[in-house]
Amino acid sequence: MKHNLRAKLSIVIALVVLLTVAFISFFGNLFIGEQFNKYIAKLQEQKINEIVSTLSLQYEKSTGAWDVDFIHTIGMSALYEGYIAAVYDMEGRTVWDAQAHDMDLCAQVMEDISDRMVNNVPQMDGTFTSETFYFTRNNETFGTVNIRYYSPYFFSENDFEFLTALNTVLLVIGTLSLIISVLIGILMARHLSRPILKTVDVTKRIADGNYDVRIDEETGTKEIDMLISSINHLAASLEKQENLRKQLTEDVSHELRTPIAVLQSHIELMTEGIWDPTTERLEGLCEEIQRMGKLVEELENLARIDSNSIKLNKSMIHLHEIINEVIRIFEAGIADKNLTISVDGDCSAINADGDRIRQVVVNLLSNAIKYSKDGGAISFELQETEETVGFQIKDNGQGIPENELPFIFERFYRADKSRNRKTGGSGIGLAIAKSIVEAHGGTICVESEIDRGSRFKVILPKTNNRGL
Ligand code: ADP
Repeated sequence: MKHNLRAKLSIVIALVVLLTVAFISFFGNLFIGEQFNKYIAKLQEQKINEIVSTLSLQYEKSTGAWDVDFIHTIGMSALYEGYIAAVYDMEGRTVWDAQAHDMDLCAQVMEDISDRMVNNVPQMDGTFTSETFYFTRNNETFGTVNIRYYSPYFFSENDFEFLTALNTVLLVIGTLSLIISVLIGILMARHLSRPILKTVDVTKRIADGNYDVRIDEETGTKEIDMLISSINHLAASLEKQENLRKQLTEDVSHELRTPIAVLQSHIELMTEGIWDPTTERLEGLCEEIQRMGKLVEELENLARIDSNSIKLNKSMIHLHEIINEVIRIFEAGIADKNLTISVDGDCSAINADGDRIRQVVVNLLSNAIKYSKDGGAISFELQETEETVGFQIKDNGQGIPENELPFIFERFYRADKSRNRKTGGSGIGLAIAKSIVEAHGGTICVESEIDRGSRFKVILPKTNNRGL
């Protein structure tokens, strides 16, 4: 059978408190009781000694007489306290005897004490015993006293009252602390279980596909807060993945629809004999197929980068060498558009993934060429600070509208879609460049003005630990 967390915590706390209180009460009682008994026994011993010594003072040696009046007073007061005395002189003659004096009172006292003890402490099994003490002065014995009392010890009415009060106090303290602890336990259990229950609820909702839910609670308990932040993180990344997936599916189908429609309609026209399959037309279809092939290739590229497994294969690289290499690759395209290209500045080598950084330069330069007008100019400028190296690439091409600037690094985003379809872009290049730069712990940004040109700036830290 499964109990919920709150019930379990409450029960455990209550049990622990119950055991502690029972333990303390039991041993407290035992210990205090034992000490009290010892104390009473000692007190009784002192009392008897006191009676004996005050009685012994009532003998006048010079005259050989006893002060019987005083002995009577002492004897009676001892009797009321439970000690039955009988004083004898040296010859064994009775000087004063409580029983002889008031037989009934003595019997009454003895009965009271026995009853009290048997009723309240039955396990003690005590009886009345008598003990004889000798009166001595200067090593000379002048009489004896016989004292009868309840042995080993007895409690007076007051002693019993004290013991009862003590037990009541212990009981009240125990009950109160039990109630308070159970209440605190229940509150604590609720305090601990509430955020966990909420987390469970949110997790269920996440599992049902509601990725936008978050737990906005600080509990002050480290482990629970860690759990909450992990769940929030999980929800956020699931939400991001879900959005990416949706966007990707939409974009891919959108990207494929156009070339497939062109292919389908053209091939239909040809198979129906309406169009002749001329070389020119077949070449057109081939171009559409190539476009689709390129798209698939770029998607593969993106998937590799997206899968969070950008493994950076780092070595010492020189940015200006990479830039010059890439320019050589694009020589034909640059010549076709009569573009002038320049590289200025220099910077020191950094530890980075050369192939990936080359990909970034390829994507930026191919865009600059694509979106430059005939006869335009493209310039690279290398920069270095104490902690970073970087470059910017500037063109004086068509530029990007200001309202589009925040989105161009998003995948499949193309400013002015109709225009860019002609240029063959698919809107992935900048997204890839951004992922690579960020995997290196760097940043990429853009400034642009329509019809004046664009400037992309890449900054990489000299030391970075990101990327695997
Ligand atoms: P694409 O394959 O379409 O070029 P990118 O991700 O490389 O995809 O670029 C996204 C969009 O940003 C492009 O469609 C284009 O509108 C704009 N863009 C990128 N670079 C430039 C540039 N140098 N000049 C003007 N527009 C640019």
